[in-house]
Amino acid sequence: MAEPELVDVVVVGLGVGGEEVAGRLAEAGLSVVGVERDLVGGECPYWGCIPSKMMIRAGNALAEARRVNELAGSAQVQPDFAPVAKRIRKEATDNWNDQVAVDRLIERGGRFVRGSGRLDGPGRVRVGEQVFQARHAIVFGTGTRPSIPPIDGLADTPYWTNHQATEVDELPESLLVLGGGAIGLELAQVFARFGVRVTMLEALDRVLAIEEPEASEVTAAALRADGVEIHTGVKAERVSHDGSTFTVHSGDDTFTAARLLVVTGRKAQLEELGLETVGVDASHRYLPVDNRMVVTDGIWAVGDVTGEGAFTHIAMYQAAIVIADVLDHVRHAKGAVDPSGTANMVGGAMGAASAVGGTTAAAGAGGAAGTVPRADYRALPRVTFTDPEVGAVGLTEFQARQRGIHVQVGFAPLTTSARGWIHKTGNEGFIKLIADADQGVLVGATSVGPAGGEVLSGLVVAVHAAVPLSQLRHMIYAYPTFHRAIEDALRNLR
Ligand SMILES: Cc1cc2nc3c(=O)[nH]c(=O)nc-3n(C[C@H](O)[C@H](O)[C@H](O)COP(=O)(O)OP(=O)(O)OC[C@H]3O[C@@H](n4cnc5c(N)ncnc54)[C@H](O)[C@@H]3O)c2cc1C
Repeated sequence: MAEPELVDVVVVGLGVGGEEVAGRLAEAGLSVVGVERDLVGGECPYWGCIPSKMMIRAGNALAEARRVNELAGSAQVQPDFAPVAKRIRKEATDNWNDQVAVDRLIERGGRFVRGSGRLDGPGRVRVGEQVFQARHAIVFGTGTRPSIPPIDGLADTPYWTNHQATEVDELPESLLVLGGGAIGLELAQVFARFGVRVTMLEALDRVLAIEEPEASEVTAAALRADGVEIHTGVKAERVSHDGSTFTVHSGDDTFTAARLLVVTGRKAQLEELGLETVGVDASHRYLPVDNRMVVTDGIWAVGDVTGEGAFTHIAMYQAAIVIADVLDHVRHAKGAVDPSGTANMVGGAMGAASAVGGTTAAAGAGGAAGTVPRADYRALPRVTFTDPEVGAVGLTEFQARQRGIHVQVGFAPLTTSARGWIHKTGNEGFIKLIADADQGVLVGATSVGPAGGEVLSGLVVAVHAAVPLSQLRHMIYAYPTFHRAIEDALRNLR
């Protein structure tokens, strides 16, 4: 067996969260090994946020061009997906090559190891034949994989996940989308706008079920207007593929298309991480962490693997906490020198060989003792980038009522607001506010509309900072903006 190599930190999984942690800790002077089995950068730049938003940008351009007929003369639109595929290949993903990201990590002072990492006992990470002993920290940023439902026959078919859907060069004639969550809706609308016959199957009674019911209604109507056939309450029972056509069976109903996209959620692969070797239960859906992102002594986690909201901005937010906490941990441990020089920090002693000066580490994170930030998800913003966009923050009305909050709801449609009326075609949307009447603050808000994700920012501030409703009511809202509907919704709170 290979002799363990002593390093300060091992980061396993270099998606947005892990890459940030590894890079920043290396810049702070720690010896950091970053382990990635696939592409450095993870899901977001190669198969997630960036390619999907490039597709959406193109789909929205087509939709706006089609609106010319109602507003400004006439326009004929000839969709062509080739420029989109080319842009994703060249500008977003470098043809799915991560050399730039690997070089960036090395330039920041990190070391890169390609392979699958797993725990091999306290403080140890194994990557193939290599074993690393972490003096200070092991950080898991291993993300999630598509969660494929156990539907009879599905596993034997060449179904698509978000990977194939964002790598596609030529669009199919027809597409079945299994799952009506954010990713399914975004991709379904894009494909439909490029002329693909899209059918969406959702098991629940509405699409975008985690958001407000009104948001589900507006989104479903928008997709239907783009030609997407949406079936809710449909449980897929069997899937078959005859070489050219997929068939999904549900009771007496069958649905067919040339391609099948499965977007039914995501799941962390905890069983691959060797957690049992450090006494951590791997049977959870996600890796449980505290508000410092600590899994157990000496082990931190960041990003989607924590199950605290599968967003790049959450991974980045958590990364800042992990960085500050690890550096704080190093700073506190400084001086507790292990006589053998080999003990890892998991056991609580700091090896004399640590490259980090305490002050540098603390200064690097802005993490003086007692100032390490703690995770707080009260004002977690979420955006579904359909057209109209669905922005949401904090609690929905249902969640607030479930928590026993004395709820007040304020609603204002965008269509009848001054800006919505001016905007005309494509003006669907609303503002919905959820207030805690006892505290006099907003605890949640939804902003649906042409710029729903941007309008959301003011609402995020309101929830995050618990701005009193009285202050929100006496703010000046620029005329005629979409966000002025917030003032109407505040007036309608009851
Ligand atoms: C289609 C789609 C669209 C999205 N759009 C948005 C959006 O608009 N906005 C937004 O905020 N979020 C969006 N997301 C979510 C976003 O992509 C994720 O939240 C983000 O990528 C999470 O980053 P992460 O660092 O947790 O993990 P990931 O990006 O999943 O990276 C984890 C990495 O760990 C590696 N890994 C796993 N196990 C091991 C191991 N044992 N050893 C070594 N390496 C390992 C994986 O190969 C992977 O590279 C989207 C996701 C999808 C799928």
